[in-house]
Amino acid sequence: MKIIDLSMPLDKKTPTYPGDPSLEIKQVAEIEKDSWNEKRIHINTHCGTHLDAPSHMISEGRTLDDFPLEAFSGKGIVIDVRKKEITLHCLKDITFPPKSVVLFLTGQADQRYQKYYENAKFLSKEVAKKLVEQNVKAVGIDSFSPDEEPFPIHKILLSKNILIIENLINLDKLVNRTFTILFFPLPIKEGDGAPCRAIAFAQ
Ligand SMILES: [Zn+2]
Repeated sequence: MKIIDLSMPLDKKTPTYPGDPSLEIKQVAEIEKDSWNEKRIHINTHCGTHLDAPSHMISEGRTLDDFPLEAFSGKGIVIDVRKKEITLHCLKDITFPPKSVVLFLTGQADQRYQKYYENAKFLSKEVAKKLVEQNVKAVGIDSFSPDEEPFPIHKILLSKNILIIENLINLDKLVNRTFTILFFPLPIKEGDGAPCRAIAFAQ
């Protein structure tokens, strides 16, 4: 059993969605002067590796605190789409365990410090509908989003209370492995999303 970290480090290089303010981490106390070290962070709820709750895109949608802790872990499946488009064809031979967490490995995270928001792969609507049919618990991607404006994939998944995990890394380390993924968000009151530490327990 090995623990694999699927989370982006948080620092000033962390990519932020175009138009969002950058992540800021400021030293506010130092041992030499204040007797302790402490930092203050300014972070949007959708920065770094994070969860999207339904209320992110659905008015009256559920917020993070409407979900039990069981919602934030499950049996994972990784689908390698690095060399293909994300169409129904990618799901053809897959058997989904009940309440699985389906992760798309696009390779986009490899360029997270350069041109992250260019040439990304997005899910087709048919793929999103199939995942709803399969009753998956959550859908994750190693990219900034499973879609773009007007966000049809977000809306299909979130309207069915399927959580979305964005900005994952290291999904290539899970190919052909059996794993459980944990992605516990910060307990932000009425959160529309929150940074999380996503990890996998892999066989
Ligand atoms: Zn988000």
